[in-house]
Amino acid sequence: MFLDVLNDNSFATNCWLVAATGSEEAVVVDPGFSPERVRALLEAAGKRPAAVLATHGHFDHIGAAAELCGDDLPFYVHEADRAALTDADAWGAGYEAPAVLVKDVRTVTDGDVLPFGGFSIEVLHTPGHTPGSVCYRTDGWLMSGDLVFAGAIGRSDFPNSSPADMTASLRRFLALPDALPVYPGHGPDTTVGRERRANPFLLEP
Ligand SMILES: [Zn+2]
Repeated sequence: MFLDVLNDNSFATNCWLVAATGSEEAVVVDPGFSPERVRALLEAAGKRPAAVLATHGHFDHIGAAAELCGDDLPFYVHEADRAALTDADAWGAGYEAPAVLVKDVRTVTDGDVLPFGGFSIEVLHTPGHTPGSVCYRTDGWLMSGDLVFAGAIGRSDFPNSSPADMTASLRRFLALPDALPVYPGHGPDTTVGRERRANPFLLEP
């Protein structure tokens, strides 16, 4: 599978580029910044974007979505985070953010399976960091957004975070197979097993 990441922005947010080997059709997950660099990377790899997905509605994950989607590309976000597109300020993660006026918004919910060229992505609703935070899962990996990072977890102290939901979502993460690679919204890759063993925020009391 083709997988690339772009993360040299001030939030160190990972923007993931995904495509099946041998397919031109790519998916962009969490385009916070640098839409022109996303396009250039895809072009260099012989891929063209088919859809843009958000793990949640914080601006550092969706900021470039409108520019990247333009008139044609669909943008997928959980229904509970859709409001972040037009009300980023009130929705806030503690910094000022303009509206992200994507034209073709498609909401997803838990259990949805999104088919793309040569692979599909399953939606796991994992609220807590935001009400509409999701993880995206394929046969080969999980994109955990701001639920779980290598050695850390996402914040659940924003105005519309929920610590109780976060706890339930982390339990759901821990039910996944140890060997599953995890690509977080910030920082380096990990696996479910590594986080189960070593993440201080996931150790049972
Ligand atoms: Zn976030």
